[in-house]
Amino acid sequence: MELTAQEAWSRILESARARLPEQTFRTWLGPTKPVALTADDLVVSAPSDFAVEWIESKYSQLLRSLAKALLGEHVRLTFESRGSDGEVASFAGFKSPALQEFNPATDVEAAATQTGARGLLGTVNPRYTLETFVVGSNNELAAAACQAVADAPGQAYNPLFIYSGVGLGKTHLMHGIANAVLARFPRTRVAYLPTEQFTNELIGAIQARRTTEFHNKYRRIDLLLVDDAHFLAGKERTQEEFFHTFNALYDAQKQIVLASDRPPNEIPELQERLVSRFAWGLVTDMRPPEFETRVAILQMKAERDNLALGQDVINLIAQHCRSSVRELEGALIKLLAYSSLTHRDITEELALEILGGVLGNIRDISPEQIEGAVADAYGVAPDEMKSKSRQKRVAEPRQVAMYFQKDLLDLSYTTIGRRFGGRDHSTVIHSIRKVEERAACDPEFRQRLSAIRASLR
Ligand code: ADP
Ligand code: MG
Repeated sequence: MELTAQEAWSRILESARARLPEQTFRTWLGPTKPVALTADDLVVSAPSDFAVEWIESKYSQLLRSLAKALLGEHVRLTFESRGSDGEVASFAGFKSPALQEFNPATDVEAAATQTGARGLLGTVNPRYTLETFVVGSNNELAAAACQAVADAPGQAYNPLFIYSGVGLGKTHLMHGIANAVLARFPRTRVAYLPTEQFTNELIGAIQARRTTEFHNKYRRIDLLLVDDAHFLAGKERTQEEFFHTFNALYDAQKQIVLASDRPPNEIPELQERLVSRFAWGLVTDMRPPEFETRVAILQMKAERDNLALGQDVINLIAQHCRSSVRELEGALIKLLAYSSLTHRDITEELALEILGGVLGNIRDISPEQIEGAVADAYGVAPDEMKSKSRQKRVAEPRQVAMYFQKDLLDLSYTTIGRRFGGRDHSTVIHSIRKVEERAACDPEFRQRLSAIRASLR
């Protein structure tokens, strides 16, 4: 009986599924795809180098024994990363670094021929689209400008210059423009390239005495997306070439988009004529997303990748990871990996454990801040919580404040009791236990707790 690669891998996965926790299966094996089956080999791809390593180290024994049982002793099962061949590179929805980092050894012409039908020079991740870019007040203008450029290349802002710190979505937006333009105007000649690639190619062209070809190649482009333009700093010859390319394209009303970690006038040793040209169109920045946007980004990712993540966990991650979207994604990956490794569901408790490293932040919070946040959330005065009153409207926030003082600050029961009108430690223990018990069975209450947690910066 001849099996196709697809049939063989489906059967192996079916057996594996029965032997692994569902979350593990979905996270690591769900995104795998059979690539080829020959008489001696079954090749399977996973979305990223990281996923391949993980599967190799954790599940290869199981998978190989299943493969052996199905296909025979001699068939070798190997895994490869889809990230390395310029296809979709993602692991459970997260970009593989392999796709972003330019490999100087890659012949860009070869990549261009692969996708030549679509007129693309360079590699673009199909998952980075303008639709999947979550817009908040931190990136509103940049996102709108990218949309405008994608709708009418060469006519809206030219050039468009976006700058921000790392991991805030510059590359995503550039790929998003490329994807949108190629979808709508498939004949557009699009080039996406990190500045380093431009430099490397230039060096190669100079060495091979083929600079004319180099000139011609980039002057044929309709939409030029240059990433990490801050790497132009101090590179005289690259700047010189880029200046001429820029002029040629600009004069022909071709669209140019640049991304950088700082505005043009702050890129050191950048020729004045480039500084001024970069500012001819629109220069716009992006800042780290605020809490609500961080939540929206996590929700989008969870939804898109069918991850079972509770709102409390999302809030918790959003609360802890503030500096960049990449950090947010990193926390999510860490959590998925850990939950899969330990066969534990992703709960707020697990998240706290895993994100422990960043818990340091939270130790700066004072007991007063906790009391204030809880009082605010319940619409009572902090002093009321410290009174003798046993009314529910006061007793509940009091218990919640005690819970957080234990949970976040690990104050002693006696200290907590003292803060609330001299209650003894057994009362405090009892109060905290009540909060925990209710949180375990009342989702609305849990939601309330995580909102308070989130408000404690
Ligand atoms: P930069 O180029 O600014 O360093 P990236 O574009 O590489 O940042 O973004 C880092 C990661 O964060 C990518 O996986 C990207 O998809 C994601 N990301 C950044 N901003 C957003 C956003 N607003 N919505 C959705 N995903 C985002
Ligand atoms: Mg980038």
